[in-house]
Amino acid sequence: MKSHILGMPRIGARRELKFALESFWKGTLTEQGLQQVARNLRAENRRRQRDAGLDWITVGDFALYDHVLTNFLRYAGPLSLEDQFRRARGDSQSRPWDMTKWFDTNYHYLVPELGTTWSGSGEDLLAEVTEAVADGYPADRLKVVLLGPVTLLALSHASSGSVWDSLPALISAWERILARLADAGVGWVQVDEPVLALDADPRIDEALRQVYRSGARSPRLLLTTYFGAVAHQRGLIDSLCVDGVHLDLVRGAGQLDGWVWPQGRVLSLGILDGRNVWKAGDDQVAQRLAGVPAQADLWVSSSCSLLHVPVDASPETALAPDLRQRLSFAVQKLDEVKLWSDRLARGDLPVVPPVPPRNAALASSRRRVPGFAIRQPLQQAALHLPPWPTTTIGSFPQTAEIRQLRSAWKRGALDAAAYQARLKEVTAEALHWQDEAGLDVLVHGEFERTDMVEAFGELLDGYAFTGLGWVQSYGSRCVKPPLIHADVARPRPMTVDWATFAQGLTDKPVKGMLTGPVTMLQWAFVRDDKPRAEIAFQIADALRDEVLDLEAAGLKVIQVDEPAFREGLPLRREDQAAYWAWAVEAFHRTVSSVKPETQIHTHMCYSDFSDCLDQIAALDADVLTIETSRSAMTLLNHFRDFRYPNALGPGIWDIHSPRIPSRDEMVDLLRAAARVVDPSRLWVNPDCGLKTRDWPEVKTAITNLVEAARILRQG
Ligand code: GLN
Ligand code: ZN
Repeated sequence: MKSHILGMPRIGARRELKFALESFWKGTLTEQGLQQVARNLRAENRRRQRDAGLDWITVGDFALYDHVLTNFLRYAGPLSLEDQFRRARGDSQSRPWDMTKWFDTNYHYLVPELGTTWSGSGEDLLAEVTEAVADGYPADRLKVVLLGPVTLLALSHASSGSVWDSLPALISAWERILARLADAGVGWVQVDEPVLALDADPRIDEALRQVYRSGARSPRLLLTTYFGAVAHQRGLIDSLCVDGVHLDLVRGAGQLDGWVWPQGRVLSLGILDGRNVWKAGDDQVAQRLAGVPAQADLWVSSSCSLLHVPVDASPETALAPDLRQRLSFAVQKLDEVKLWSDRLARGDLPVVPPVPPRNAALASSRRRVPGFAIRQPLQQAALHLPPWPTTTIGSFPQTAEIRQLRSAWKRGALDAAAYQARLKEVTAEALHWQDEAGLDVLVHGEFERTDMVEAFGELLDGYAFTGLGWVQSYGSRCVKPPLIHADVARPRPMTVDWATFAQGLTDKPVKGMLTGPVTMLQWAFVRDDKPRAEIAFQIADALRDEVLDLEAAGLKVIQVDEPAFREGLPLRREDQAAYWAWAVEAFHRTVSSVKPETQIHTHMCYSDFSDCLDQIAALDADVLTIETSRSAMTLLNHFRDFRYPNALGPGIWDIHSPRIPSRDEMVDLLRAAARVVDPSRLWVNPDCGLKTRDWPEVKTAITNLVEAARILRQG
């Protein structure tokens, strides 16, 4: 029995890498200084693995900005730091590489633009091996992580031709890297091929056969899969020439059932969840171990890289002791891996628990009645909106002043009453400005919120917040997801005071503003002892009470944001229908108890929604505002082809860009929209919330937007 992990977080327990990168970009830290921070982080990660007693010390998992970029350079050849960061962040001359979600995680990688030659030979990997050896780790105890050539190509973008055209040249680079690692005496290479967890694709399968064939001089190869079961690829995997295979038995529990393990091949058991923060219980591990072949050469591991969890739970002393005791961040996972590897070596196997019966009642739909066609005139009678109604997505600028006030209040330098009083003033100013600017449906501005999930998590039972539980989102950007550790409930109204305060300042309708159940779940670390659907419904039920309280308080329009609606979509098609059923149901539970006159909005952004219009339509929101301007409105063509039934607000100002479109540009966009969707169902709004913009920009852009709507009303 051997123990290892697939990779450590790179950011550092106190986000050392983030701060070093940002200082380097600002020019206050030298390149040498940055590299020193990186070296220290790598040394610390190695030390932690050794101290935990793991058999293989994993190296090569570090990246200054992004592991896909780093691995690309191993094959393509090294670049100066300046050139690397230009790919990552762009500059005045060049656009950065696109960034997109790493499979179904909340990590974002840079999409490599192919077009170079593959002249690398893993220079940085060799340097890391040398670094580790110099630190006292024998080379044959090292396991070097390399992103597999097939996954690298599958995730890349070729501006001309197919990415697969460059496979032969890439294979030469791959063989060069392996030969050099073999020369350095490295024990194992962990070659990551998470594409195996996707639906099978003949081009990918063919590429895998070409890459993993016998002959090349190489350390032993551990073909590493994660983020799902790969049982559908069993035949292919069995036929590849590798020395071991790693399986994610957390996401892909049960996949070993009936798998006749090839003689002599190592089986690495990913039984500790690399994507969640809870200590594994005996029951869970027992389920994950189901079907483990008796004869195989076994290793124990995390399911995937620990990149997706925070570094260390031990400083979280502000949390309740019983909660803290349940936590396992990366450092704790190392000990768990060792513990389970020792237990399995002793034959101390946990007993498989009986499978609880599935709760079939979970997915009963509660769509709103009556339908949109009947609701629409009732809402119109209640709201008296002009054609082409204008609105915003919720937040107004979080100015430096507001952020300073909040931090003063949080550290006790400002009392709560003074903080609240100033927020009220700011809110009132925002309301008056919106009124004067001529917007039709107003918002309170979300000045009291730092973050759309945190704001509600702090008011709901069942959520907790860590002090240092940061995980990398991309580059130097980190997020600190809350923990959902117990049943979620709403002890008291959450937003009613702000909403009624705002509505009291104007005769126009104010939109209540809530974060939807799927987003509240998706952007948190969720307890793993209950199905996600069940937690989503708990959140939905809490939000429903809030929706009804807002309605009772006189709010006629309520928005339930679901930017993460698509983010939890399972990788395999066969699993997707079940996800959609509960995701849609959670939204219905949240909103379907209101009167037909109450107008429900939802908002979506950050994802490409063109492949889930059915599910978006099934939400049956009266109004959907959606990010469209970056895609030059091409999303709208999908809405046309699909005949989206309800009202739609395609964003006409890309708030992620400092560029402000003119009134005429907005008019053109809206006219284009009107060719696609009946104008009686169109709304006029920006792409997303305005919290990251400043007031002068907002004033200019919203004034243009209101004028654009006026021009369209004139015909
Ligand atoms: N209502 C939120 C806001 O305006 C929505 C944010 C989002 O879509 N990400 O800030
Ligand atoms: Zn948005």
